[in-house]
Amino acid sequence: MSKLMMTPGPTTLKENVRSAMAREITNPDLDLDFYEFYKGICEKLKLLLKTKNRTLVLDGEGILGLEAACASLIEPSDKVLCIENGIFGEGFGDFAKLYGGEVTYLHLDRRAGIDFKEVEKFLKDNHDFKVATLVHCETPSGITNDIKNVCKLLNEYNILTVVDTVASTFGEELYVDDYKIDIALGGSQKCLSAPPGLTFLSISERAFEVMNNRKEPIRSFYANLTIWNNWYENKWFPYTQPISALNAFDEALNNVIEDKEIIDRHKRNAEAVRKAVNAAGLELLSRDCHSNTVTTILVPDSISFSDIFNKMRNEHNILIAGGFDFLKDKIIRIGHMGENSDEEKLYKTLEALDVVFKELGVKLKADLHKVFRNKN
Ligand SMILES: *Cc1c(COP(=O)(O)O)cnc(C)c1O
Repeated sequence: MSKLMMTPGPTTLKENVRSAMAREITNPDLDLDFYEFYKGICEKLKLLLKTKNRTLVLDGEGILGLEAACASLIEPSDKVLCIENGIFGEGFGDFAKLYGGEVTYLHLDRRAGIDFKEVEKFLKDNHDFKVATLVHCETPSGITNDIKNVCKLLNEYNILTVVDTVASTFGEELYVDDYKIDIALGGSQKCLSAPPGLTFLSISERAFEVMNNRKEPIRSFYANLTIWNNWYENKWFPYTQPISALNAFDEALNNVIEDKEIIDRHKRNAEAVRKAVNAAGLELLSRDCHSNTVTTILVPDSISFSDIFNKMRNEHNILIAGGFDFLKDKIIRIGHMGENSDEEKLYKTLEALDVVFKELGVKLKADLHKVFRNKN
C-alpha cells in the first residue's frame, strides 16, 4: 500500500500527470513539434508566474535553478547580499561564494518573517551590491516571507533580486513582475505536484543583460543560463531534453491552470491546520508569516521527534517530516502543498497524530482532527 506522503515535497501526483510519463517519446532535438511543446510550457509558466520575463525549465531539481542563477550572475568579487531568516536563505550564500561572490549576510529572526523595516534600515547605509538573494517560503521553518516590498526596494537600489520560490509557487500569491523579481526559481515536486527532477526559472531582461556582458565566462555549462539565449530561434537545445518528465510537468501545469481556487485552498487548509495546532495547546515554530504550504510544530518536551515519526510511518502509513540543521529533532513538519493541500488527507494525518500523541502520553487540549474539521 502506498504511503500517505504529507511532507513538504515531493507531493502526490495526479493520475493524468503519472500517465503522461508513460507516453511514447519523440526525439526532442530533431522533432520540431517538440520545440513548440517546450515553448508552450514556457508560456504557461509566464501566465502562472504573472510575468513577461523569459521562462525556462531545466533538467535538474530546484537546487539546479538556485545554482544556475548564482553561476550565471555572479563573477569573482561581485558583492552579494544574502538576506536570510532560515536555513535555505543562509545556504543561498554558499552558492554565491562557490562562484566567487563576496557575500554579506543580513541575518534576521528565524522564527519570524523578513522584517521590511530592518532591510530598509540596513540598505540605507549598505547598498553597494550587484545581487541580493532571498527565499520566499522558508520550508525548513514554515515561514513565507512578505517579499514584495523587499524586492521592490532592492530594485530601487538597482540590486538584482534572485528569489527561491521553490516552496511557494502555486501555493502562495506570487506576482513576479509586480514584485520586481529578476530571477524566480521553482521546483517540480512541490505545489506543482509533478515528479521531482525539474526546475523552472523566470529571468528578467536586465538579468540576461548582466549575464551576457560579464567580464569572465560563466564557469559552468549545465548551470549557464546564457546557453539558452536563442534556443527557439536556432531550434537547438543545450542537451537532450527530459521529454517524459516534461510531459508530466506540462500536465501538472494544466492542472494548476484549471484549479481556479488553488491559492485560496492552500490558505484555507493551512489556516485550519494552524487553528487545530493552537487549540490543541501545541506551539507553532513560526511566530508570524506562517506558510500556507508547510506547518512547523514544536515537538513537546516529554517526547522525541523519532517517536512521533516512527509511529506515524509504521502504524499509520503516513510520512511527515522533521527538522534539519539547527531544527533537528525540534519540530515536526506537515506539508500541505499542491495535491496534498487536501482536506481529507490532512484530516487523516491529524487524526493519526492525535492517536500518536495520546499513546506517547501527551495530553492535548483538543483533538487536532476535530478542530480542523470544524474550521473547514
Ligand atoms: C525543496 C526546496 C528546495 C529544493 O531542495 P531539495 O532539498 O533538494 O528538495 C529549495 N528551496 C526551497 C525553499 C525548498 O523548499
